[in-house]
Amino acid sequence: MSGAARGKVLFKYADLIEQHTDELAYLETLDNGKPFVLSKYADIVGVLKCLRNVAGWADKISGQTYKMDGPYQGMSLYEPYGVTGAIIPWNFPMLMFMLKVGPALAAGNTIVVKPAEQTPLTALYLAALAKEAGIPSGALNVVPGFGPTAGAAVASHMDINKVGFTGSTEVGKIIMEAAAKSNLKPVTLELGGKSPLVICEDADLDAAVDIANLALFFNMGQCCTAGSRVFVQDTIYDAFVAKAVEKAKKRVVGDPFKPEVEQGPQVDETQFKKILEYIESGKAEGAQLLTGGCAAGNKGYYIEPTIFGDVQDDMKIAREEIFGPVMSLLKFKTLDEAIKRANTSSYGLAAAIVSKDIDVANRFARSVRAGTVWINCYHVYDQSLPFGGYKTSGFGREHGLHSILSHMQLKAIVTPLKDSPW
Ligand code: NAD
Repeated sequence: MSGAARGKVLFKYADLIEQHTDELAYLETLDNGKPFVLSKYADIVGVLKCLRNVAGWADKISGQTYKMDGPYQGMSLYEPYGVTGAIIPWNFPMLMFMLKVGPALAAGNTIVVKPAEQTPLTALYLAALAKEAGIPSGALNVVPGFGPTAGAAVASHMDINKVGFTGSTEVGKIIMEAAAKSNLKPVTLELGGKSPLVICEDADLDAAVDIANLALFFNMGQCCTAGSRVFVQDTIYDAFVAKAVEKAKKRVVGDPFKPEVEQGPQVDETQFKKILEYIESGKAEGAQLLTGGCAAGNKGYYIEPTIFGDVQDDMKIAREEIFGPVMSLLKFKTLDEAIKRANTSSYGLAAAIVSKDIDVANRFARSVRAGTVWINCYHVYDQSLPFGGYKTSGFGREHGLHSILSHMQLKAIVTPLKDSPW
């Protein structure tokens, strides 16, 4: 199909998804446990923004011509890889699906998607809608299954020419190895994180508490970008703790279909148990439990919004990704110290600073090794901005044009020039 035709069908696909917002949001909440209002007003909105952005790019991808050093004309041409693959996690099932599918199709590829085994429902529903929108048969394929079987088949397939993976760093390494050992397909890896959020003493305290609360507790703490190491300057530490604890205690935990609920259950028993183990390790290693610290209620995989104070850099809860509603507060004295400690993590997905001093904020933004830096905000994403990790948080960039180009390879074409004036 031409770029224009691909764009047209993808716009139609977006309209159909929008018409099915309620069904999709319902399925997402049923599958994942996230509040229905989040599924409807955050996840689907993100899906539509992604799809409409890449649909608009579909007929605007072009190469260049080059005046070469000699009687030749050079051209560069963007070409799709052909068959691509994607392996995605369960924390934002619809959004992760579209962040891979939209750019792959806009670029002119076909794609085989392996959704997470915990959350396959919306991927299947979205595939049915793709058919209805007129996306040609075979262009979009959804293969639900488990990682070591279905996922491994995608990563090691000899006829899949590119694979995009979002998930844990541990599995990212397996994907890269499988890609290397099969047909050396290029991979993009969006992996885990342990993102630092630095609160400086000049910050507006209430705003800082709101930012920290959103940074960690959003989506039951199941965000790759979660602000899971909150560094608070020593002079405001006690005041910050009091307000942060008060706010966490007010968080409404319960049935995700109720409109007032802010926090649903964790995705499954495995995650639930893993998070409780991390909480126990925080207690055992001497962190100060300020609020929460156990399961909420006695039915389902609900966990109380938890905050640990006096967390030290070498504690397990400060080093490893918990992927749950557990905030760690760490005290710091100077900006230099905060930057140094922020950078000690092996991860580098996101970072943030809250300060009224633009010089402090800029210094932090340029010193921290992370793919995204937020200043006085958190969890703000846009299709125009690249998204991806530094260090063990992966490589490759998603969103909009960045992602489309990662689904294409660049060819050079050379033609001799005869009797040309220049
Ligand atoms: P996971 O790595 O266990 O699973 C992710 C996907 O990989 C699933 O579809 C799974 O079935 C598949 N998989 C598992 N083993 C496999 C194997 N051997 N071969 C091929 N595929 C395999 O991760 P998860 O627990 O589902 O998701 C949570 C992780 O994802 C966290 O670490 C989180 O930070 C990360 N994440 C990263 C981003 C990002 O953009 N950087 C976004 C969301 C989640």
